[in-house]
Amino acid sequence: MRNYLKHYINGEWVESTGNETEDVFNPATEEVIGTISMGTKEDLDRAVQAARDAFPTFSQTTKEERIELLENIAAEYEARKEEIIETITDELGSPLSISESVHYMMGYNHFSQAAESLKDISFMEDRGGHTVMKESIGVSGLITPWNFPTNQISTKIASAFAAGSPVVAKPAELTPFAAIILTEIFDKVGVPKGAFNLVNGSGAVIGDGISSHPDIDFVSFTGSGAVGSKIMKNASENIKNVALELGGKSPLVVLEDADPEKAARAAITHIATNTGQVCSAATRVLVPSSMKESFEEAVKNVLPEFPVGDPHDQNNHIGPLISKKQWDTVQSYIEKGTEEGATILVGGTGKPDGLETGYYAKPTVFTDVKNDMVIAQEEIFGPVTTIITYDSIDEAIEIANETIYGLAGYVVGNDPETLKKVSTGIRAGRIKINDAEADFAAPFGGFKQSGIGREWGDYGIEEYLEEKTILGFPS
Ligand code: NAD
Repeated sequence: MRNYLKHYINGEWVESTGNETEDVFNPATEEVIGTISMGTKEDLDRAVQAARDAFPTFSQTTKEERIELLENIAAEYEARKEEIIETITDELGSPLSISESVHYMMGYNHFSQAAESLKDISFMEDRGGHTVMKESIGVSGLITPWNFPTNQISTKIASAFAAGSPVVAKPAELTPFAAIILTEIFDKVGVPKGAFNLVNGSGAVIGDGISSHPDIDFVSFTGSGAVGSKIMKNASENIKNVALELGGKSPLVVLEDADPEKAARAAITHIATNTGQVCSAATRVLVPSSMKESFEEAVKNVLPEFPVGDPHDQNNHIGPLISKKQWDTVQSYIEKGTEEGATILVGGTGKPDGLETGYYAKPTVFTDVKNDMVIAQEEIFGPVTTIITYDSIDEAIEIANETIYGLAGYVVGNDPETLKKVSTGIRAGRIKINDAEADFAAPFGGFKQSGIGREWGDYGIEEYLEEKTILGFPS
């Protein structure tokens, strides 16, 4: 059992001022694996005060000191690799292979990339004979969701540290343990007292408290649009800066010259990875009408390559959903799709055979979907995707953009001119062509209601910096 009833404030693990606790479950076994303390407003105030006290010194550390700090964190993170992987599998239910190749890997890369990116950022430059400086934005409040226990929190902390911004972090209640390992890492490598503070607790108390706190200068939030909107409203009270990484309903455009099997594998990978609980997952697959049948056939053929089951079994690609609540949500969307007149090509409601314990859902592909159906417009956050047909590239781009979101887009095919047309035509923050690999120096973030601001690399660090112009600064 992992019982963590303390918060990390001003360089120490301290008792909560309240006595409310919450159990954390393993979604594959439905068993309690530990308990966390649900912080109070008073705990939050103490953490914010510690961060404020740390600001004058931490913000004045040199770039070289901060690069060294980030490199030390990356090295210590690597030293705890096995524990991080096991923890994420236990709290999130992601298969061990995904916990390693996606979750662990992303956290590591954010710290090492921030160290690299920082080397190239200039904190003082000349503009027309005057001086432009970049300074830490102040105290940052970080609020993160459960679907990537190390990714989002690591990119936010790495950027904040790179910019010399002290942090108050609140991870998701459902997956708090990876963040506790991170906190232990910061403690071990000697992050200055008060520069990192962790307060566990609810969104309603600690999350809301962060976004409305008068002594927090910047809030970086990843999560749902509904909460993002509340955070923006709260932040507006004292004109706090915000960065919001919200949801998506991303298109995957299959071109006419694509190999149907390759395209089907790409489509299924999106709903398999992290059991489809990925903000940037492609969940609208746009297929040329002429390819509908061969694509559907290919989907059925490739699906067995993605077995569902025990995340500790190395053969499995798809684990359970995070919670009973998420399982119920996914089931209701599958029912909704059928009601709306879409056809279930594979999957459906209920649990996969033999997986009665654990929040397992059947990977489900709907076909005959119209883009205005609820299942094509709302984020389902589960292993469910939709096939929508198109008759021309212009129509494909139009459908791709008929969404309130703009986080990501994907194109599978060969003709270079069409690849260029589709990838530049989709209004989203990140487009991936075929198997292109992610680079941690390239920005991540959304257009439209998918968010505000960018994370990763130097773009991410810039969010935690303010520009100051000094006219006539003596040289
Ligand atoms: P959520 O918005 O419910 O919760 C996210 C975090 O906000 C949690 O820590 C929660 O405790 C906190 N919170 C809840 N209510 C709050 C309030 N009133 N004020 C302040 N904080 C509050 O989201 P979730 O269900 O944990 O995560 C799923 C959502 O996150 C999906 O919509 C998904 O698309 C999105 N997401 C986006 C990205 C991205 O980078 N764009 C990445 C992952 C997930």
